[in-house]
Amino acid sequence: MASMLSKCQLRIQRDMDMVRGYYPVHEESPFEYHVFEDHHHLKIVIPTNYPFHCIMLNVVNKVTHEESSYVEVYKRLIGYYYHHLRGDLPSPGHCICCNHIGINWSPHNRMINVIKELVRYHEWWKALRTYYYAKELLTHNNDLNNNINNDTIQYILTFLNVDICF
Ligand SMILES: [Zn+2]
Repeated sequence: MASMLSKCQLRIQRDMDMVRGYYPVHEESPFEYHVFEDHHHLKIVIPTNYPFHCIMLNVVNKVTHEESSYVEVYKRLIGYYYHHLRGDLPSPGHCICCNHIGINWSPHNRMINVIKELVRYHEWWKALRTYYYAKELLTHNNDLNNNINNDTIQYILTFLNVDICF
């Protein structure tokens, strides 16, 4: 029993060392860590049976300090732009909440892989946002756009490579 526990603790330490290689980390307790990723304040909550169960990765709201699962946050953010761009983009190949790394978790996965997934979601969201605002700017009625027709707009937008199949 004691050796089992230390094995798990060793694995947690190795995983956290990998995370520390990328981001500043603050330890709240042996099972709770704050990670300061470039654009996010994240909190890792480690389940007692790690690595046999995925960690909980939460995004901490900078103003309210409320915590939400990164899956919920990006499902909402990405879903918002897909909703407003429907008709322009094919629907995404899959749903985030049904396909994230925790769904088919295996002990071979590391904590850093979960954070990397969040970073990919963030890039996906940024690409959609850029596309959305470029389209808004191009289609808004003003002197600049008077001579731009729909085909030209579509042509310009094809230069913004939005990852639609993630
Ligand atoms: Zn889903």
